[in-house]
Amino acid sequence: MLVAILGDVHANQEALDQVLAAASDHGVSRILQMGDIVGYGPDPGYCIDRLRDLDATICLGNHDAAVIDKLELEHFNPFARQALVWTKQQLSQDHKDYLASLPYVQRLEDLDVTLVHGSLFQPENFDYVRSLSSARLCIELQRTRLCFVGHTHQPCLFILKNNRSFEYIPSFEQEGEFEVGGRQQVLVNVGSVGQPRDEDPRAAFVLYDTDAGRLSLHRVSYNLEAVQVRIRRAGLPSVLADRLSFGL
Ligand code: ZN
Repeated sequence: MLVAILGDVHANQEALDQVLAAASDHGVSRILQMGDIVGYGPDPGYCIDRLRDLDATICLGNHDAAVIDKLELEHFNPFARQALVWTKQQLSQDHKDYLASLPYVQRLEDLDVTLVHGSLFQPENFDYVRSLSSARLCIELQRTRLCFVGHTHQPCLFILKNNRSFEYIPSFEQEGEFEVGGRQQVLVNVGSVGQPRDEDPRAAFVLYDTDAGRLSLHRVSYNLEAVQVRIRRAGLPSVLADRLSFGL
């Protein structure tokens, strides 16, 4: 089976549509998403509807949590906060009920996969996995072969072999495909669909070929100017539009 794994979408319709089209071209039969469907971007309702219609398996992100009052707005910078206040006004009760139904952690026994937005270490605190020590805290709580995270918007891999040696691969795009097998556990940051921050503005997603035991990172271009126009038109902070051009 081919599974597509999507990180932070951030209400970016164009990026989500392009990623889903690319995933469909590859013949994907299942979609996993690690939260932050909303926040920052101009299309929160559309992105929720699109993923819900595809029956994607999703866990709760910190921006999703904030719009349903599960996380205080004071945890966010002023630009993010302004976008969250706007997002709250845009979403219907039905959308909010859907976000409220999402768990912090999804364990998929059939795929031997765990999904969490930030870290398995106190998932409701949405810690960032961006150092060896924070990755170690997360991977030690991992009960499945694979754990997928988002939150930093920067793709990378951490590998724990034989419960001992620990390895970090900054971006597995250059490595091409990554073989999952043997006595190793892998913690995978899949990057971001709608707001990449690794200086590559293209939308990111990961494919997992469960039969071949292979992971691959993919990047797709999308019409980011169209999103930027709608961000500005909605009265959202223009920095949220500008950063999309640079992948920052
Ligand atoms: Zn995010």
